[in-house]
Amino acid sequence: MSSPSEALLQLRGARKTYWMGENAIHALDGVDLDIHAGEFAAIIGSSGSGKSTLMHMLGCLDRLSEGSYTLGGEDMSVADDTQLSRIRNREIGFVFQQFHLLPNLSVQENIALPLAYSGIPRKERLERAKIMAGRVGLDARLDHRPTELSGGQCQRVAIARALIHNPRILFADEPTGALDSKTGLEILALLDQLHAEGLTILLVTHDPKVAHHAHRNITLSDGQILKDETRVPRPQSLPAREDQTHPNGHLQFGDMFRIGLREGLLAHKLRTALTLLGVIIGVASVIAMSSFSLGSKKKQADQIRALGANLVRVVDRRLEGASLYEARASGSLGLSRQDAAALRSRVPDIQRSALQRALELEVELNRRPQAEAQVLAVAGDWLEVNNLRLEQGRSISAEDQQLKNRVAVLGAGLKPKDTESLDLRIGGQPYQVIGWLENRFVDTTELEAADSSNGNYSIYLPLETALNRYTWLPLRSELDEIQLQLRDEDQLAPAGRSIRRILDTLHRGVEDFDLVIPLDLLKSKQESQKLLDLLSLAISAISLLVGGIGIMNIMLASVTERLKEIGIRRAVGARKPDIRRQFLVEAILISMCGGLAGIGLSIGIVSLASIPLAIPVVFSPGVILVAFAAAFGTGLGFGAYPAIRASNQNLVDILSRE
Ligand code: ADP
Ligand code: MG
Repeated sequence: MSSPSEALLQLRGARKTYWMGENAIHALDGVDLDIHAGEFAAIIGSSGSGKSTLMHMLGCLDRLSEGSYTLGGEDMSVADDTQLSRIRNREIGFVFQQFHLLPNLSVQENIALPLAYSGIPRKERLERAKIMAGRVGLDARLDHRPTELSGGQCQRVAIARALIHNPRILFADEPTGALDSKTGLEILALLDQLHAEGLTILLVTHDPKVAHHAHRNITLSDGQILKDETRVPRPQSLPAREDQTHPNGHLQFGDMFRIGLREGLLAHKLRTALTLLGVIIGVASVIAMSSFSLGSKKKQADQIRALGANLVRVVDRRLEGASLYEARASGSLGLSRQDAAALRSRVPDIQRSALQRALELEVELNRRPQAEAQVLAVAGDWLEVNNLRLEQGRSISAEDQQLKNRVAVLGAGLKPKDTESLDLRIGGQPYQVIGWLENRFVDTTELEAADSSNGNYSIYLPLETALNRYTWLPLRSELDEIQLQLRDEDQLAPAGRSIRRILDTLHRGVEDFDLVIPLDLLKSKQESQKLLDLLSLAISAISLLVGGIGIMNIMLASVTERLKEIGIRRAVGARKPDIRRQFLVEAILISMCGGLAGIGLSIGIVSLASIPLAIPVVFSPGVILVAFAAAFGTGLGFGAYPAIRASNQNLVDILSRE
């Protein structure tokens, strides 16, 4: 700490040089100056003499080109941005000619602004601002915006803001320059009063009347001190300065969020909405497309499960005419019960098997012909293998097969409304209905698995009954299909190979059957869909990219528009990282709002579109999370450059800009 005899601020050999191309402008040209605590000094001089430059150096808004500056014993010429920001925030207050208030904040919030940059909670900030507003006579204007105030009131707000941290010294650059003379006198009276209460004041003016208020006049000319006269000696004893509270806090996340929302997004609603659109479309398309893709995959998986899981189907080619004769002449009997028995005994890991033969027979139910009905003669575990369930009655038993009973199990679609009397005739012969199947509808039109009739109109008879009670084309294969269900998926491929080998031997190499593995069909279908998935992912990525470019564009515009705001925040103590984070939070806020809206939109679109498309709705939390993360990343990535640009602005430049 400095002793009373030591100066509060001390300049030695201070120089500030601006370069205009080749020409050096020495705005300060070797200034030595001591200001002591309790002084009320005015810097005077003609326009261009370097007054403002001197104030900016003393106010830690800029650095000297040469020389040294100590404030309260601390060397300012070696301080970094963080330290200078802390000094601006807590040790000094600055009042500008143009007031430099933030237009979107109320009087109370403007006064409280510096406190935010020392991490003081909002409630306490506003309370302290209210007390300070009272000290400068603005109790009645707390909720007003700066645009609703007179110039004098604006300058009072600026003074209250400068004093909120109870600084060591108040700097004022032409504080009455923008005011009429009466209001100017009121502001001077306020400064007199504050000085009387112990505040150290250094002001700049070109007005001799204002200069006369001060107790010491320092005249500048061409960047050098021309004259320095003290009219009133400084007081010998000063009231003790209160200790600072919260000495090391920074701008809180909640404040950045509030700034981004109120002063960024909501200040330009239409612009924000348009920017959001890019992100919304990107996120919505990622989620919608992946949901459709997942939905159609699920649909296919459902179809496969309905057709039978882990199934290998051996399907007879139903040869006719010359090729049939040729096959028989070569020694193949076509698909038969012997084949099935051989496969069952020689292929390992078969869990279940079923045999099937389609019959082209007329069906009459209660005297009405059933054109849609399809008669299938079956044996083995046909219910389980085909994923069918009995709703009523019983299935075909071994005894039915043995005795070649004329019994039938019917699909749900054939069930008449009145089941009292049932008269089923197949090929003119009466059959007893012993069971009904559960209703089962699977849309298998998209899946090219052979024989995917939906089963609701099927009539199932014992295979033995059909083979023995009817006479057939003499050379026709005994069976149309052998269905083998394996224990698990991994065995499908090896089993398929050994089935083919065994049948090749039995059929003497005649190619009169096909192997169909429904799961393989699904897999190849899904393989071909991968390209489509990739394509839609690329489209979504591009629209997110476009959204991100939109964010960057808008943030760059925002930075340019808000240079003054940035300058004001920096002047009252915002560090470069505070500004950077503020704009980054704003960019991320846009992208996250877009992300959330995109998720909502996609859920709506998918739910609506899946009805006509007959696709189940599948939302993957993973995809939603990834899409949201991508939106977040877009905001972060495209917001970074504008944010860095915002924080690297030259403080004095943006503050003196009109
Ligand atoms: P005053 O406030 O006394 O009118 P200034 O401190 O604003 O004077 O300016 C002092 C000199 O420095 C002037 O010649 C001005 O043109 C020059 N100057 C001030 N700021 C800059 C700058 N950013 N770039 C170049 N020259 C500057
Ligand atoms: Mg000036």
